[in-house]
Amino acid sequence: MKVLFVAAEGVPFSKTGGLADVIGALPKELKNLGINVAVVLPKYGDTADEYASRMELVHRMSVQVGWRNQYCGVLKLVHDGVPFYFIDNEAHFKRPGTYGFFDDGERFSFFNRAVLEALPFMGFQPEIIHCHDWHAGMVPVLLTQYRNQEFYSRIKTVFTVHNLQYQGVFPKSVLGDLLGLGWEHFNVNGVEFHDQVSFMKGGLNYANALTTVSPTYAQEIQHPFYGANLEGVLARRQSFLSGILNGIDTEEWNPQTDAYLTRNYTWRSWKRKEENKTALQEELGLRQDPNIPLIGMVTRLAKQKGLDLVAHVLHEILEMDLQIAVLGTGEAQFEELFRHFAGRFPDKVSANIKFENALAHKIYAASDLFLMPSLFEPCGLGQMIAMRYGSLPIVRETGGLKDTVLPYNQVTDEGLGFSFANYNAHELLDTVRRAVKLYEEDKEGAWKRMVMRAMRADFSWGASALKYKELYEQVISD
Ligand code: ADP
Repeated sequence: MKVLFVAAEGVPFSKTGGLADVIGALPKELKNLGINVAVVLPKYGDTADEYASRMELVHRMSVQVGWRNQYCGVLKLVHDGVPFYFIDNEAHFKRPGTYGFFDDGERFSFFNRAVLEALPFMGFQPEIIHCHDWHAGMVPVLLTQYRNQEFYSRIKTVFTVHNLQYQGVFPKSVLGDLLGLGWEHFNVNGVEFHDQVSFMKGGLNYANALTTVSPTYAQEIQHPFYGANLEGVLARRQSFLSGILNGIDTEEWNPQTDAYLTRNYTWRSWKRKEENKTALQEELGLRQDPNIPLIGMVTRLAKQKGLDLVAHVLHEILEMDLQIAVLGTGEAQFEELFRHFAGRFPDKVSANIKFENALAHKIYAASDLFLMPSLFEPCGLGQMIAMRYGSLPIVRETGGLKDTVLPYNQVTDEGLGFSFANYNAHELLDTVRRAVKLYEEDKEGAWKRMVMRAMRADFSWGASALKYKELYEQVISD
């Protein structure tokens, strides 16, 4: 079975969030199941030189973008046994960062077309093209123009929603001027969205199967609160939609071997976490004390992540004897919030307003609790990484957070973290209080047992990769 992944970011070449982790990890797992997987990504300007310098040129061509022709290089690099292809056009992609530019409509129209044009030159004829998020949403739509060519005639498509909020909506002129598609696609069952063109809708309406990254989110997005104005489309295509939980890369995220840590540890030797905590306290200028509960946050600073709630009760949270280490970038109001509190309480709050993989690893390892009270969460990797590092998550019961963090039950002594149901700041505050109380009062008892359970829980890709395989088989046989 041959499957081609199409996405806008993938570890270790580019990353803004969880999508990149998935694109870096899932192909390796599918390969272990005997599937022949390749990945296509844009070649960005800030790809690390150790990779960029080893890419080989496979083909050069020009790609039609509406009425213009644009240069396209196809590069290749095999990484961890998986062939990665890169679509190269410096005018579009040689910039710092991945997306979020004024001309994303043109950049990703080019990218989607280029992927299909490049296929015959990759020496890889997929049975399935697996498209991820809006950046690849037009591939299934454009494919309709290629069906009369033998090479493309039997290719099926799967579209995975990693986050429904980001939809790639552009003025309707994009349809003809950039995508080269006809008006027959501009209707509610096509790519039209409030008189504009939606890449996300292209994926949702044209792919042979739809998935999202947790079972709960697959249900939630069929309703208005989570549906981002696409709940109608999703409910209509319900029979094609399923939820398959993401895993984490258990080699990249392994406290036993993690080279970024001061001290490696396992669930048996979890107490050694403390050495990572004091080292981080020193590095970040927090008061050095292994007995103060340290709350970690590694996150995009976006409203999605529940930061309104945190803002509302942060001063009350800080009345407790605890510390908070934040790592993230994003909306100015939240960057300011954490900078402000770090300025006011320098020995309790550390605000690291940046994106830095090394520090992310250290925070997961050093913290006792991991705060992730999301408004919505398609899957979420942060909470799973945290559990693997013995940092107990505090989450809101939504999407993948609900599917992965079994809440602590004092009576049965079960659970992997702490959770609350409603998007309410005082529920969050109460939950933080409960967690801190357990840490203070029963660290060698219930707390310790929960850390050990969390560290041993299986968040690897194994089971989910099998589900993708089954889905591919079903799509091919349909
Ligand atoms: P999302 O994809 O919505 O951003 P996830 O929890 O699925 O959220 O994935 C976030 C990923 O990005 C995790 O691997 C997390 O460690 C990482 N991450 C988020 N912010 C930062 C940051 N500022 N520095 C380093 N890594 C980060």
